[in-house]
Amino acid sequence: MERKRKAFRLYVHIPFCMKKCAYCDFLSWRGSREEQERYVQALCREIDFYKGRYPERVSSLFLGGGTPSVLDPRLLDMIMDRLTGAFSFEEDPEISIEVNPGTVTLERLRDHKKMGIDRISFGLQSTNDIQLERLGRIHTYREFLEGYDMARRAGFENINVDLMSGIPGQTLESWRQDLIRVTELEPEHISAYSLIIEEGTPFAQMDLDLPGEDEERDMYEATAAILGEKGYIQYEISNYARPGRACAHNIGYWRRDDYLGLGLGAASLMDEKRWNNTDSIEIYLAHAGDPRRLHVGVEDLPVREQMEEMMFLGLRMMEGVRRQDFQAAFGVSLETVYKEAIRRMAGQGLLADDGERIFLTRRGISLADQVSVEFMF
Ligand code: SF4
Repeated sequence: MERKRKAFRLYVHIPFCMKKCAYCDFLSWRGSREEQERYVQALCREIDFYKGRYPERVSSLFLGGGTPSVLDPRLLDMIMDRLTGAFSFEEDPEISIEVNPGTVTLERLRDHKKMGIDRISFGLQSTNDIQLERLGRIHTYREFLEGYDMARRAGFENINVDLMSGIPGQTLESWRQDLIRVTELEPEHISAYSLIIEEGTPFAQMDLDLPGEDEERDMYEATAAILGEKGYIQYEISNYARPGRACAHNIGYWRRDDYLGLGLGAASLMDEKRWNNTDSIEIYLAHAGDPRRLHVGVEDLPVREQMEEMMFLGLRMMEGVRRQDFQAAFGVSLETVYKEAIRRMAGQGLLADDGERIFLTRRGISLADQVSVEFMF
């Protein structure tokens, strides 16, 4: 079924970091100034290619990485200029930038603000310096506090803090302390993810003292309890926000809004077509001016996959999947396709149904992957 796009979202990937963290498998490395310059020139060529091709409005922009805040402000300025020249933005779009606490200065943050960036996402991970060192982070908790204070002084009223549970050596008590310390700062948003050991990372080669399964579950429950008490609403499995401060950009991913990814390795979903930009920097630099030569894994998503994604991603959010949305997207009712799966999951107490929508129960949240499998064809 064809759907008319009203707006879409933009993601821009900046693949540079000061230093590689021990658990990180993102597409990022420490780039020299020359490399950064060459990359941004190429990124601008890619952006220019899209000028006029997507006339619909951009409702959110996410500058991610990597660490976009390591870029020279002149380069970041150049990217923002090109983006506003190539795309038309909604009147008050959400514009986020990922920031590593060791890379900010008041002046830079003020520059970000002037560029129209209105949301800062700090990758803190832990308030415990020993754990931060184990993770290979470049900053201490104190440096984060200084950066956070600078962001407020620069006028940012929408700040996210990323925290990580399941870190080697972490206990339930130290995790509780992380949560309490961060809530005392009153950020608008907190993302609380658990560490995943990814193949090919230094962590995958190490014998780590990781919290056990029960302890991890206790940490997850403590997160929901502590953040709930402090006025944060859980709106997705790992994301909590003050009322009205949920991240619009990420909600767009989970709702399967169209998004265009720019930069090395960036993923896109436009008009039910999915693709990735190449992750080869050589190919990217050579062909950024003609992004069709960058695209890999181009796929027209069959309707069944679209349905699976709507369920898998939609159920990550606490509001779940609305029957009306499913019907509008596919022209068939949720029951026609998933009656059995819904009955089974509800019978096991993992799914709730209020007539308008289906959503995970508390128990279902901790077994979300298992529930998702039930909605695969
Ligand atoms: S700062 Fe983020 S992207 Fe960069 S190496 Fe660390 S985890 Fe990876």
